[in-house]
Parts: sequence; C-alpha cells; structure tokens
Amino acid sequence: MLLAGTSYAAKSSRSSAADGSSLTVVIDAGHGGHDRGGIPGQRVAEKDMTLDVALRLRNILSANGYNVVMTRSTDVFVPLGGRVAIANSYRNAVFVCIHFNATPRSGASGIETYFYSRESLPLASAIHYYVASGAPSENRGVRRRGYYVLRKTNVPAVLVECGFLTNPTEAAYAQTTSYRQRLAEEIAAGVRRRNAVGSGFGTTRVATAESIPLQPYMDQTKVTSSKKSRSKRSHKKSARKKKSSSKRSDSEARAASSDREG
Ligand SMILES: [Zn+2]
Repeated sequence: MLLAGTSYAAKSSRSSAADGSSLTVVIDAGHGGHDRGGIPGQRVAEKDMTLDVALRLRNILSANGYNVVMTRSTDVFVPLGGRVAIANSYRNAVFVCIHFNATPRSGASGIETYFYSRESLPLASAIHYYVASGAPSENRGVRRRGYYVLRKTNVPAVLVECGFLTNPTEAAYAQTTSYRQRLAEEIAAGVRRRNAVGSGFGTTRVATAESIPLQPYMDQTKVTSSKKSRSKRSHKKSARKKKSSSKRSDSEARAASSDREG
C-alpha cells in the first residue's frame, strides 16, 4: 500500500516538463510561529507537520521544473492576508495550502480536500485523488468551503487536510519522514495531473461538481455583491468598499483561524 503511488509518479513525470516550465506553485504551509495549529493540548504540533510536507513538496516540484514559491519556509507566523497576497502576485499560478486536521474526538480520521472557486475544482479533485489513494486513511471527500485563503485568492486554490493529528494512527504516520514524503509526492502528482480530471479519473472516486456538498458559509452574498460593485461603480468607490470589506474579512479570518482553520 505504501508504494502504490510509485507508478503514478513515474507515469506523470513525462508530462510534467511541458507545463512545469511556466506554472508557479505557491505552497502554503499552514500555521507557524506562535500559531501551532490544531486544538488546545494537541501533542503533535500541526505547524511542524505542514512545514515539513511543504518543504518536501517544494523539492519535488522544483525538481520537476515548476517555479515554486513558499508562503513560509521556516517556523514563522504569516497572516492569512499575507499568504493570499503572495498567491495573488503571480499570474499563471496555483495555490496549495497544506494542513492537518484536529478534533476532540480521537476516532475521527481521514483525508479531505477543500476548494472554493469553480476553477479550483480540477486541482482539488486531482490532489485529493492522489493523496486519498496514497494514504492509509478514510476518504472524506472533496468539499467546498469559504476558507479565507481559498476565497480571497485569484488563482486556483486548494486546501488539503492530510489526516487527523488527534487520531493516534494518523498522528503516528504523520510523524514518520517516509509518510510525509509520500504525502508530498501525492500532492505533487495532483498538481501535475490537475487537468486530467474527467478523463483519466473516470472510474475512480473523484467528486464531480454535482456530488460535492455545498457547505454553508456566512458571506456568500457579500462575495456576489462585491463583484457587482466592482463592475458597476467607480474605481474610487469600489476601492473604498474593498478596503472596508477587507477589514471585515480580516476579523472574520482571525475568528476563523482560531476555529475552522485552526
Ligand atoms: Zn490547520
């Protein structure tokens, strides 16, 4: 089971050079610095696991010819707005956020992958396909949710939860370098094959737009109205509105990072 992904890596390495030269992959290691991630009292710090997988992913993608940018490459805290700003400063880019899950219920386990914009779905499906099939964990599916880092990015953006650090089995896996390397390789495979959803994955369990549960998120109407205001109002007005709405979003984000994105 642990070596099952090797053939994928070998198969897809041929096609990677073609798009690898121009695409920028912005890798976002969740949390960092004073923000450990996870839940209070959690033994294994999420921030260390996310950074290690992110650095491994950087090495793999760089070796495959991708332009790789890290939102952090050390144990520092980067605000969510800063992470998004980095991603949005690249044009032909994708944004990959790496997290591990946590919950007080230690039995909870599995891999889940989040996206928000429609254009992010192929990347989410591909990454989820590889990570879920490479992990000895439950497949919790591809889900749509308005996480700040997914909502505010202008490029395809995906957040992958690489298992529960509050689950003894998954935490034990996460603490081995071989498993973290495996996770990085599967995420890289998803980046390489991000446009193959719907053809190559036809017989596998990949969520389609119809089967993805649309989860409730507070500000769907705000997103719609701010789009309208951008096209109908003057630059000055929309800039003002943007400023005030980003202030709101920052406090939202702070609230979210202590809870849903924690
Ligand atoms: Zn996290």
